Amino acid sequence: MKDIAIIAVGGYNEIGRNMTAIRIGKDIVVMDMGLRLDRVQIHEDTDVECLHASDLIAMGAIPDDSIMESIDGKVRAIACTHGHLDHIGAVSKLSHRYKAPIIATPFTADLINQEIKGERIFDVGNSVISMKAGERYQVTEDIELEFIRVQHSIVDCVFAAIHTEKGSILYANDFKIDRSPTLGEPPDFTRLRALGREGVLVLITETTNSGITGKTPSEQIAKDLVWDVLIGTEETRSGVLVTTFSSHIARIKAIIDAAREMGRKPVLLGRSMDKYWNTAARNGYASKDDIAVFGRRKSIDKALKRIMNEGKDKYLPIMTGHQGEPGAILGRVANGETDYLIESGDKVVFSAGIIPQPLNMSNRYTVETKLKMRGARIYDNVHVSGHACQEDHWELLRMINPEHVVPAHGNLVTHGHYLMMAEETGYSLGSNIHLVRNGQELLID
Ligand SMILES: [Zn+2]
Repeated sequence: MKDIAIIAVGGYNEIGRNMTAIRIGKDIVVMDMGLRLDRVQIHEDTDVECLHASDLIAMGAIPDDSIMESIDGKVRAIACTHGHLDHIGAVSKLSHRYKAPIIATPFTADLINQEIKGERIFDVGNSVISMKAGERYQVTEDIELEFIRVQHSIVDCVFAAIHTEKGSILYANDFKIDRSPTLGEPPDFTRLRALGREGVLVLITETTNSGITGKTPSEQIAKDLVWDVLIGTEETRSGVLVTTFSSHIARIKAIIDAAREMGRKPVLLGRSMDKYWNTAARNGYASKDDIAVFGRRKSIDKALKRIMNEGKDKYLPIMTGHQGEPGAILGRVANGETDYLIESGDKVVFSAGIIPQPLNMSNRYTVETKLKMRGARIYDNVHVSGHACQEDHWELLRMINPEHVVPAHGNLVTHGHYLMMAEETGYSLGSNIHLVRNGQELLID
């Protein structure tokens, strides 16, 4: 039988720039090609379309795929499991090096096509194949790729199962076990349990939140938190600004619904808000009716001016800038660079956690302080995570019952937490749970 190896290309030493190659004999399936956002000091409103792959690799911003030259095999397919930039953001920089199609769910494929179209340096000729959750793609005669529906903080997220004659390899990066999502269906537990019974050789799993005890609350809870803050108040006349992840369509919909309940007009502001909302609308996850979306700087500034003129209490602006990114709209409002003036008692709602990187923390502190100096009231962490916590990981492990486990998408700390949980479940480090670092190939016996 063909030997199987897992090649850790990126995302095994850090959170971001995911890329894993799975070698079955001489055939390779690549999973994800992502970007590490903090390394280029970029934010949701910035693009790296003009930067060269070698520069981005030197910055540690995209996976260093030089290891692929020493791997004896040919890449037959590239699959991306969801549309976050740390999973698709390097596709336009690296995929042209491999003569293989890129396979993703419709929403993700749409975003990938936009990345490729926006690329200024490389001519990416790879075909992009759109495949829905529940469908399969024949990679070679004896390798099949299957997408299985899960939940995360972006729509149309899947697990990828690579079926081989030795059993399947399940790539679970990223996910959350959400039984009451507000958009889309819960994870396909029936299929996951069946997969476990059929025999999973390797589980490759993210470990982002494995150090957090308990279970990640459902997105329904986040919706309740948002509604509680926006509607559960006597201060109904003040200006209210909300900032959240522009790719988090379910969350934005919850905020829009709350705006309507408040009798305010929701307005989406920001280049990435425009991009993700339009992509969601094209793919049936959102509607463009009755919602004003402004992506260009000039139109954003005009919209903010109109809001000031007509009355802040008539609108609910939803904008980029929750990490305090310089140049994003919330930062510009905090600096007084727009016509939207923050006055005493105005509310700023962060429907996002702080991504725990020093750069984010400092940017966020700066923006919050500036807003407070203008008299704003801050509501932070009106949010639940899109990543599985410890007990969710435990549940998946029990459901799938894999022979081997490889922690991915995390650093030594998060992998360490995962290892302790897995050892409690009966796995043992070095025998059937494997700590792999960027640039290493793990042979599965
Ligand atoms: Zn993600």
